[in-house]
Amino acid sequence: MKDPITFADVLSARKTIAGHVIHTPLRPSAALSDRIGSPVWLKCEQQQYTGSFKLRGAANAVLRLRDEEKAKGVVGVSTGNYGRALAFAARNAGVRSIICMSELVPQNKVDGIRALGAEVRIIGQSQDEAQQEVDRLVEQDGMIMLPPFDHADVIAGQGTLGLEIVEALPDVDTLLVPLSGGGLLAGVALVAKSVNPMIRVVGITMERGCAMITSLQEGKPTSVKELPTLADSLGGGIGENNQYTFDMCGDLTDDFVLVNEAQIADGIRAAYHDDQQVIEGAGAVGIAALRAGLVDNPGRTVVLTTGCNIDMDLHKRIVGGEDVDLMAE
Ligand SMILES: *Cc1c(COP(=O)(O)O)cnc(C)c1O
Repeated sequence: MKDPITFADVLSARKTIAGHVIHTPLRPSAALSDRIGSPVWLKCEQQQYTGSFKLRGAANAVLRLRDEEKAKGVVGVSTGNYGRALAFAARNAGVRSIICMSELVPQNKVDGIRALGAEVRIIGQSQDEAQQEVDRLVEQDGMIMLPPFDHADVIAGQGTLGLEIVEALPDVDTLLVPLSGGGLLAGVALVAKSVNPMIRVVGITMERGCAMITSLQEGKPTSVKELPTLADSLGGGIGENNQYTFDMCGDLTDDFVLVNEAQIADGIRAAYHDDQQVIEGAGAVGIAALRAGLVDNPGRTVVLTTGCNIDMDLHKRIVGGEDVDLMAE
């Protein structure tokens, strides 16, 4: 039986990764506050090193390895941002890394990971196929697998983001959390509910491929078809043998919200024009949900804007007003 992840694990993760990650700004959004009639802040993880919060979990997981594990090198599967974070954390710790991903990952993300000195392998059409290559590297070469979300050290690392929020705003009412594999939501919700069970945690994902929500509805990990989406960082399944995030997301989430592609584009646009922030689709789903009126009575709200790694030509088209549909391209 696995040990549950605790608030104390998050506190120790914060000590472990101090100096390796940025304590990101919590930035009031006048435009969103005006729009919904209560104060709204953006927790700006798009300003994190590597351009997403994923570094928190990756850094914690790499730094907590024993020396003999570090010597073997680390391997992980990624939709892009975790790969970038793992490559960065591994390089800083002097550890070799190989990142495996599916053909759906945008080229800008692949390039970013290679630039950090990681070896990249592109395999198949889904995260699950890329995972098979990871399994092979673990079995044949003895490398250490650090998964993108379903790992105690990764979840505790993501939880440090929650700590920064509740310390700055102990009276926050609602957290809007982008949701894919659920490592972020699990860590952040663990912290929020430990501090004040009344804090409402809303998990937000895209209509095109909401693996966690489908899995929770089915009562077991269930894969969904992966489709091109502006929120590409939210793609992928939750793993057939999910250990932590399926249960934690089920227990700790108050509401789930789905956003469509037009709403995600609207979120990206609003982040740019109203708040001067470049935010990728996955990072803009909270803004999208708020603006679309999909969150009931949000109150004092923190929107977790989780990443900035969007192809800049695509970003330019979206903020220029074009109706982008990646399915049609
Ligand atoms: C990975 C990612 C998420 C979702 O995190 P999970 O832990 O997989 O739920 C949200 N936003 C961005 C930008 C990401 O890279």
